[in-house]
Order: sequence, then structure tokens, then C-alpha cells
Amino acid sequence: MSAITGLSPEVVAKYEVVIGLEVHVQLLTATKAFCGCANQYGSAPNTNVCPTCLGLPGALPVLNKQAVEFATLAGLALNCQIREQSIFARKNYFYPDSPKGYQISQFDKPIAEHGWIDIVDANGDVKRIGVTRAHMEEDAGKSIHDGFADSATRTYVDLNRCGTPLIEIVSEPDMRTPDEAYQYLTLLKEIMLYCGVSDCNMEEGSLRCDANVSIMPRGSKTFGTKVEVKNVNSFRYVRSALEYEIERQIEIVEDGGTIKQETRLWSQPEGRTFSMRSKEQAHDYRYFPEPDLPPLIVSDAWKAAIAATMPELPEARRKRMIAEYELNKQDAETLTAEREFADRFETAARTAKSPRRVANLLLSELGGRLKAAGLELDASPVTLAGLVQAADLVEEGKISSKQLKGLFDICFEKSEDFGPVYEREKPQQITDSSAIEAMIDEVIAANPAQVAQYKAGKKTVAGFFVGQVMRASKGQANPALLNELVTKKLDA
Ligand code: ADP
Ligand code: ZN
Ligand code: MG
Repeated sequence: MSAITGLSPEVVAKYEVVIGLEVHVQLLTATKAFCGCANQYGSAPNTNVCPTCLGLPGALPVLNKQAVEFATLAGLALNCQIREQSIFARKNYFYPDSPKGYQISQFDKPIAEHGWIDIVDANGDVKRIGVTRAHMEEDAGKSIHDGFADSATRTYVDLNRCGTPLIEIVSEPDMRTPDEAYQYLTLLKEIMLYCGVSDCNMEEGSLRCDANVSIMPRGSKTFGTKVEVKNVNSFRYVRSALEYEIERQIEIVEDGGTIKQETRLWSQPEGRTFSMRSKEQAHDYRYFPEPDLPPLIVSDAWKAAIAATMPELPEARRKRMIAEYELNKQDAETLTAEREFADRFETAARTAKSPRRVANLLLSELGGRLKAAGLELDASPVTLAGLVQAADLVEEGKISSKQLKGLFDICFEKSEDFGPVYEREKPQQITDSSAIEAMIDEVIAANPAQVAQYKAGKKTVAGFFVGQVMRASKGQANPALLNELVTKKLDA
């Protein structure tokens, strides 16, 4: 039984779901798209405004070069072709937060088109989701319906956001499950963050998503009527909204009804969508070329210069790091989730004797303790430099892994970095061969069965003896020496 409407899995399985996403990404430029006003979130209302972004008569737009470069970089990162000539268009509609009465956008000649993002489907296979286009446009202002003494009777408007540069990234209707949509969004956001073109902060509205969804009988070639769901301001909510909407549509069709083409809003508190406007009320935007802006030309040379600033993208970085540090996929995802952190990690790890050991310690010893303490990596008492120092000491056999664990425990207890803790504690090491040999002899004498296994050819049993002696020495035996002596004794 489904969670929402009580549809049986057999009924749900009769239908195939089609999802296409439209994602608005605010560009992180210093100034707005067509004027010199600060592009800044959180300023006092109506302070970052000028005649151009207020739409006063006679004011003319001037295109922001940085916005074009960000849009181009984002387009390239999404595997799009960049149009040599793209055209700005006016999208006409009236809304109180848009004083010009139109929005400058791009229509039939967007700056970027024909791209893709690769996700992994439910079977673990790579699935390519088409990116139809990524076009440039400007944001509108904001209506403020509450927070004022007279909010019950008035709505206020803040025009600071008017003219903020955006790209709208439109996907092909290639996704088939809410999970695929979730993955697409996650990767899209990661790519934008890696490129540094947006902060993708959904709470502040710098990344916004509209989800289009329809159902059709499984195996059908003709898509069903789509419903657009707006107002979903987290990726988790997108998934919930899609799950709800799919079941709502199936239920209608099962009851012999038809799906109306409409825009619906997701209400997170109520856990449902409700109708905002139907197709009959849909806008006719009367797009026409923006007469105040010339065609935008991105020459091959300019495009190449922008492409040269492209960072290594998340997926490529994961592949490389899996090979370079012998990581599994999940660990690679953890390390690459934020570019800034991945950069800091790699810069530090590369100074270590074994970068691989740094990665492993970070994910196991440090990661485990951070999780237990409920701390983010940024708040870790052991810094990356401390981690490298620890890894080097283990690598050189100056401390054992067990001693390292003990030192890390102290770091977390006392909120101190590894360096000072190590200097103070200076764990003892037994480097005297005869002392270690004596301990090995004892363990060998106490474990005849394991000795027999070793003699019979099971060489891995040596690890058992190393472990036992290490324990007996309270982690103080020099690991390199211990290994060497155990093999020598067993082979004797
Ligand atoms: P519109 O003209 O209504 O804006 P578009 O064809 O431009 O529609 O598509 C908008 C978004 O809806 C795109 O992301 C696209 O992939 C998606 N989409 C189009 N048709 C469907 C459908 N039948 N079911 C689900 N999504 C769809
Ligand atoms: Zn302005
Ligand atoms: Mg469209």
C-alpha cells in the first residue's frame, strides 16, 4: 500500500512516470545583470536599486560581463553547446514585484543548449539526463506578505532582487523516478558550486526548482499531461512533492478521470500539492527580442578563455580520487562533496608520506570521532595538518595505529590538535629487539594451533601474532620491528 493514497504496488506498477526539472540558479556576481547595483542578499529593503532595475522610463540595461562568463562556464560544465550568438528577449507579464512589466530573459536563442548530466539509475547503470537549455535571465523582486504590523491588510514589496542574474536550467523529460530527480538536483548543485557560479543557497532562494511530472501507461510512447509543481525549496521536498503528485495522478486516472494541465504548489506542512492556476489561466508572455540589448556574442576565443578556468568537476574528481587514494565510492563522495574541503584535503594530503593513509585516517579515525561528537569537519580538533603529522608518524613506524587512536582520543577529550598532544604525550615505543622477541616467544608458546596453521602455509596468521604482541605491549612495540621479528620467529 502506498503511503499517501493507499494505492497498491500492482496499480502503481501499471504506470510510468515522466519528470522534467526547471532549476533557477542565481549567479554570484558582484553586481546585477543589467545595472551596477549590488547583487546582495539580506540588505535593507529597496536599498540596492536604481532607475534601471526599478524599470524607470528611459533607463537602459547594460549587460554584466561576469554574468555572461558565469553562464558560459555553467553551460560548459553541463556539457552544453555555447551559442556564438544568443538573443535577449522580453517576457511580458504583470506582477507587483516586477516594476518593468517584463522580465529580460532568453527565448529561442539561449546561451547554452544540448547538454547533459549523468546520474546512476536504480540498477546502478549510468543514465544520461538531457539538459535542454540553460538561458540567462533576470530575477524579479519579492512581495512580502507578513512580518509587518499591518500585514493583515497590506503586502509590501522589496525590489532588491530585481535584476539579479540567473540561469534557468531546463532538463529533458528524462527522469523516471523521484530518486532520479533528487540525484539530478544534487549533482547539478554540486557542479554549480564547484564552478563557483552560485552559492546555491536554497533557503535564500539562490537555487529554486520547479518540477514537471506526468504519468502514462507503462510501455506507452506518448507522454501524459504534465503538472508543474512550484514552491519546493529543498531537494527532499522535491522528492516528497513528486511522490505525492505521482500518486495523486494515478488515483485520478484509475478513477477514470483525466489529468488537467496546471501549476500546483507544494505545501510542506500539509504534505500535499494544491492547484495554483490551470492552463486556461496560463500566461501568454508575448516574448519579443529585447530592443535595448544587442545580440550577445561569445567568440571562440572568449569561450576558450572561460573554459580554461573550469575546475575539475565533481564526477571526474571522484574517479581520480578513488584511484589515487584507493577509496570506495561512498568515501570519495564524502571527500568531494564540497570543493573547498576537497581542495584543502588534497593540498594537505600531498605533503604526506602516504596521501592514501591520510585519506583513510580522515575517513575512519577522524570521521568516526567527529560523527560520534556530532561535529563538522570544520570544527575538528585535529586539523588537516595534524592529521598529516599523525599519518606520517604511523607511516614511519614511530607510533603504532593503536597509539594513534589513543592520541586522537586525547585530542577530542581536550579539544587540542594532534601536534601538541603528541609532543606532550610522546608515547613510548619499545625498539629493543630482545624485549619484543621475548613477548613474541610468549605468544607463540601460548598459541600452538596458530603456529601449526602458519607452518602449514597459512602465512596470514602472522597478523594474529603481531596483533597479540601489540596488545601485550599496550601498543608500544615498534610496528616495523615487530612485523619483521614475528616473521623471523615463525619461519625459524
Ligand atoms: P512549457 O512549454 O510548459 O514550459 P516545456 O516543453 O518547455 O513546457 O517543458 C518544461 C519542462 O517540463 C521541461 O523540464 C520538460 O522536460 C518538462 N516536461 C515536458 N513535458 C513533460 C511531460 N509530459 N511530463 C513531465 N515533464 C515534462
Ligand atoms: Zn540597479
Ligand atoms: Mg518552456
